[in-house]
Amino acid sequence: MSRERILIIEDDDRIGSTLLRALDGSGYDARWETSGRIAIEAARRDRPDLVLLDLGLPDIDGLEVCRRLHRDDPSIEVVMLTARDEELDIVVGLDAGAVDYITKPFKLAELLARIRAQLRRSEARAFSGGELGDLTIDLPARRVWIGGVELALRPKEFDLLARLVTDAGHAVTREALMADVWDEHWFGSTKTLDFHVAALRRKIDTPGSESRITTLRGVGYRYVLS
Ligand code: CA
Repeated sequence: MSRERILIIEDDDRIGSTLLRALDGSGYDARWETSGRIAIEAARRDRPDLVLLDLGLPDIDGLEVCRRLHRDDPSIEVVMLTARDEELDIVVGLDAGAVDYITKPFKLAELLARIRAQLRRSEARAFSGGELGDLTIDLPARRVWIGGVELALRPKEFDLLARLVTDAGHAVTREALMADVWDEHWFGSTKTLDFHVAALRRKIDTPGSESRITTLRGVGYRYVLS
């Protein structure tokens, strides 16, 4: 698998170089630009998977950079880095096409976790559904069938199934499930996850046969590819 490309647009040398080092060290193909104008050109050429965008740039306002990036590629994932934690700026930024924001000063570990969550979500959006054995899922329509019979799933049950089948055949950690299906800032009990998996199994599994969802003790769950 090729490394995910992240474009950093940040005019502060200390923050820019720290981010470049951290992302590079985390296995991403990271690139750093200090000018909005050059970064827009770089994004057109390199089609990054995610953009970290400082709102306070010397040449073009960060919000305008965000709008232009989004005009060039409506599916681009822009995470704003902002010292302005004014609610209005954040709302305007999200309107300009950003998917998330992080206020400065930020902790590197938190930033990396947010980037991971964002990339997972964009991957999930790219998968719109299909057939996995006798299970058919339509993610945009939020519908699921087994053997041609449509199932009635509760919203969280559907989200959980959608998250698992998006990574069918792969382990999905408890942390990833909690972050993606519930909330990235969830600090409560993860028993709710096991409760929902059990409820989902009752609806999608055939009594007496092996579950479609394998428990990976201490790790998470995996949707079984048949
Ligand atoms: Ca700046």
